[in-house]
Amino acid sequence: QRVGYAIIGLGAISLGQMMPAIRESKRSRITALVSGDPAKARKVAQQYGVDPSSIYTYDTFDQIRDNPAVQAVYIALPNSMHREYTERAARAGKHVLTEKPMTVSPEDAQAMIDACARAGVKLMVAYRAHFEPRHVEAARLTQAHAFGRPKIIQGEFVQNMGDPEQWRLKRALAGGGALPDIGLYPLNFASYVLNEQPSSVVANIYSTPGDPRFREVEESVGFSLRFPSGVLAQISTSYGAHRSGRFRVMSERGWTDLNPAFQYEGNQLSVGRRVGQQEGTEQRTVENKNQFTLEVDHFSQAVREHTPLKTPGEMGLQDHRIMAAIYRSAQEGRSIPLDG
Ligand code: NAD
Repeated sequence: QRVGYAIIGLGAISLGQMMPAIRESKRSRITALVSGDPAKARKVAQQYGVDPSSIYTYDTFDQIRDNPAVQAVYIALPNSMHREYTERAARAGKHVLTEKPMTVSPEDAQAMIDACARAGVKLMVAYRAHFEPRHVEAARLTQAHAFGRPKIIQGEFVQNMGDPEQWRLKRALAGGGALPDIGLYPLNFASYVLNEQPSSVVANIYSTPGDPRFREVEESVGFSLRFPSGVLAQISTSYGAHRSGRFRVMSERGWTDLNPAFQYEGNQLSVGRRVGQQEGTEQRTVENKNQFTLEVDHFSQAVREHTPLKTPGEMGLQDHRIMAAIYRSAQEGRSIPLDG
């Protein structure tokens, strides 16, 4: 039987990606909506066949406890609101799939994990790259040492932000700038492809003086992660340059390259290595599957069958610890060790 989801926040990612993906899914369905805009909620409910009695506002949300059609929530609100809605959902006995970044600090991430553990509900962070078939293939090739041992990773996710008034540029709602929003993709993916956690980080941050977009949050971050195996990952992110997303793993006898890497659709995977006497580059064809559908069905399966989560709350906590160390490294001008 399908897991029924309450969608919390009817913004870009819910309406544009996750709700259409749930409609295509095998194990999930939308059974409730939570929105501050009643007219929008009614329209979306009609579109998705959601019972009007299962529309909630942020104020009436706690009544979801009494709705047996809802087993889980999907939280797609500004980052600093994820904690509150995770805790309220857990108190209502609902499993939680929250968007990335999990929250805005390691302390908040730990509180979310504790709240879900106390309530006996599952907690997953929506790291969609773990379900993108090309990313999965790049991780498989890297971990299998298909081209020998990995040595260097180069990752980037960059965008040029518009409206200075948007919530992503407000510290209280976003928690930070380019790093937690988009730099998090290559940061998280580096640990995923290597299947290990970094042991230290060193970082630089720069924001253009006088640019109204970067009054509260940072513009650009460059950081280097050192892994116990010896791999160095150089990662760049910015809110001030034209869109670009790429992720490259350089191993002893070849490389894998995702470019573009972090799109909803149209990512490309290529590999390079010596073939005979020549350097060969080859585009890998990987079956196209919707990463959001795979992600939500993975969570639904875990809810129904208690299968292990690929991207649990603990992964979100670890990434928040790394991001806190990145900010600290830039501030103190030194390398910061990460324990365990
Ligand atoms: P959005 O601005 O389009 O939507 C946010 C929603 O939250 C809106 O419906 C808005 O009305 C509601 N909201 C409630 N209180 C608000 C407040 N005080 N201020 C602003 N909005 C408020 O944002 P989005 O792009 O859908 O992002 C939502 C979350 O999803 C973020 O955490 C973001 O990082 C994440 N996200 C993930 C991906 C992905 O690929 N996994 C992509 C985009 C966004």
